Amino acid sequence: MCSTKVKICGITRLADAELAVSLGAWSIGMVFYRGSPRRCPLVEAGRISAALRRRVQLTGVFVNAPLEEIVSTADQLQLSIVQLHGDEGPAFCSEIARRTGAKVSKAIQVADGGDIREIERFHVDYHLLDAGGRQERRGARADVGHGAMAENGGRALRGGTGETFDWSLLESRRSQVPLVLSGGLTPENVCQAIALVHPFAVDAASGVEAAPGIKDPQRMRAFFAAVSGSGSTAPSALGAPSGLDTAPGCGPATARLARSNAPAVAAVEHHYGPYGGQFVPETLMPALIELEQAWVQARGDHGFEAELQQLLRRYVGRPTPLYRASRLSQRLRRSIYLKREDLNHTGSHKLNNALGQALLAKRMGKSRIIAETGAGQHGVATATACALLDLECVVYMGEEDVRRQQPNVQRMRLLGARVQEVTTGARTLKEATSEAIRDWVSTVAHTHYVIGSAVGPAPYPAIVRELQSVIGAEAREQILQAEGRLPRRVIACVGGGSNALGIFSAFLDDGEVELIGVEAGGEGIDTPRHGAPLTVGGRPGILHGARSAVMQDEEGQILEAHSISAGLDYPGTGPQHAHLRDTGRARYFAVTDAEAVDAFKLLTRLEGIIPALESAHALAWALEQRGGELDLICLSGRGDKDLAEVLRLG
Ligand SMILES: *Cc1c(COP(=O)(O)O)cnc(C)c1O
Repeated sequence: MCSTKVKICGITRLADAELAVSLGAWSIGMVFYRGSPRRCPLVEAGRISAALRRRVQLTGVFVNAPLEEIVSTADQLQLSIVQLHGDEGPAFCSEIARRTGAKVSKAIQVADGGDIREIERFHVDYHLLDAGGRQERRGARADVGHGAMAENGGRALRGGTGETFDWSLLESRRSQVPLVLSGGLTPENVCQAIALVHPFAVDAASGVEAAPGIKDPQRMRAFFAAVSGSGSTAPSALGAPSGLDTAPGCGPATARLARSNAPAVAAVEHHYGPYGGQFVPETLMPALIELEQAWVQARGDHGFEAELQQLLRRYVGRPTPLYRASRLSQRLRRSIYLKREDLNHTGSHKLNNALGQALLAKRMGKSRIIAETGAGQHGVATATACALLDLECVVYMGEEDVRRQQPNVQRMRLLGARVQEVTTGARTLKEATSEAIRDWVSTVAHTHYVIGSAVGPAPYPAIVRELQSVIGAEAREQILQAEGRLPRRVIACVGGGSNALGIFSAFLDDGEVELIGVEAGGEGIDTPRHGAPLTVGGRPGILHGARSAVMQDEEGQILEAHSISAGLDYPGTGPQHAHLRDTGRARYFAVTDAEAVDAFKLLTRLEGIIPALESAHALAWALEQRGGELDLICLSGRGDKDLAEVLRLG
């Protein structure tokens, strides 16, 4: 229930950082402002980053620092969040986000309602309100807010309507940007602050210190205990009696504001280790922010959830069966289960995502949808969702793919979509995606871009994964039902990686379940003709708005991918996969065109199921394994679309 996150700021020592993380800190903040007594030495910051950056959001705090200094510090320490505490304007904040790929938290000293409206001009990831009053401003600034508030912090909170900052001013707050509350918070007053303001996170610095820059373990523990005991931020939208404050230990005076504050909402992640981010033209930033806000609201909204569930059941055909492939199992002398995404309407997992996004677009009031497609599967799914929901639809497709995939082009046209041929470059998926992004830049006010896989700038990879996670949620339950245990391996093919993340997501915390991603080995990974950036040669690079593993040459030119299956024919991959690979949680392998075709034929003969060539890659990898008693394979789609290709090969 309690979901208020805790940030511990003004950390200068690894030991303090470790304690904060072990107590469950969401973020730890290091101050790099020279004028602060809590300034964190860079060497120590490096140690903290090395030890903890995978476990906690590392925030760097800056006050009017030069752009280059912030960018290089953020890069060096791999900061997740850059907190700007000076006079930085909205454009500077956006530039920091773009250059660092980190989230940006804009801090503002709150004195009166004017200041609160001031922060709404900042389209950043977090708004940090520091309860420093006007008269304290100079002093607070010199100490990045938190410190100076030690002296007057009690006042800010006393009686819920302090002298320096009346929390009721927040009633006029309209922004949905997650709010971080800071300034004079202590174990004693944090509970009341949460009840009144319902922030996304609370930020403590001096309030948990023994001396400036040195944390007091006792006070830190007390602070976390107070926050988790506050039973806070039960958002009224989720059915709690309209904002009634239930925080134990908080006086009745605190209930006054609780009802009118917007529920604190959890944002989605932008980064997966060093991957992900938002590398897009400035003009797209507001759209990405709007999209993330709409998504966070929608997924917490019963109406939206119910409508999507209803469509998934009655229209898409979910839940899809989990099928024990008996003849295949017999041959391999172990149990093989297939998650039958091929039985979805339109023949693959793609509709789970396209329908969810189209529904979201409608909710956002967008009347026009654009999409990119390679083989046409995502184009067909999107055109289908648009027909169903009465939305205008334009699908970008390379001229070469239009020629190769005529049946899908005809399907899209019948469904009412306009297929826009792209004639640049290799005239395939990569160019189609670039063209779709170009369209979006100029039409963003009324257009939503439905990205077809777990790729692209944040928040897309997270949204697509969440929409596809239904695959894993169902499969996990189904296999427990059937076998009474979890599978030994979960195997899925990886193009952009959406079906794989969809099924992996339910098993990520089950350490004993191996997660296997299978990429396109094309004509062999020792040749240049493959599509296996995770398995070989994909260095970190930026493609289509995110940093991920990308096939590129020495100069960073993106290479062309090759695969017999158009759905895997892409030189990049989703950023979360690159991170899962680096951390070892998932392993990735490549399977050649020829091996995939053999597996395609085998499954067809043995089980009477014609798989998509993409899915046949996952199957082919499984066929090569000995031992391992229980495999779950995501059969991402059906192979009708691939008949001509397979027959041509004889
Ligand atoms: C598009 C597609 C894929 C590849 O996309 P992911 O995002 O990696 O899942 C795999 N299988 C089928 C059937 C597809 O249509």
